[in-house]
Amino acid sequence: MLGACSHTHRCSLARAADVLELRPICEHCATDLPPESPAAMICSFECTFCASCVDDVLHGVCPNCGGNFSPRPIRPTTAWRGDNFLGRHPATTDRRHRPVDVTAQVAIVDRVRSARS
Ligand SMILES: [Zn+2]
Ligand SMILES: [Zn+2]
Repeated sequence: MLGACSHTHRCSLARAADVLELRPICEHCATDLPPESPAAMICSFECTFCASCVDDVLHGVCPNCGGNFSPRPIRPTTAWRGDNFLGRHPATTDRRHRPVDVTAQVAIVDRVRSARS
């Protein structure tokens, strides 16, 4: 998220946000998650955690939206097709570190699980 553009529609300033945001750390434990890391997991809103936090702390439920996680795709470092590579669309330097409240997480996991079943 850029937050630079106040328009509600997609304008040119918001365009950079159209590319998946590659966040540099786990939101919970702040471990490094470089673009090539196979341990990076994202929810549909790009909330980014390491695989061990997703398993051990979050139990597969995003603390911010209640959704699930998928492995974050690795952006190519080679310009195979035009500008669609890491050199042109680098990882963000925005270190979003918001450790999860474990008690609240247990509660949301319960709510989400009972709604899914
Ligand atoms: Zn983590
Ligand atoms: Zn989420």
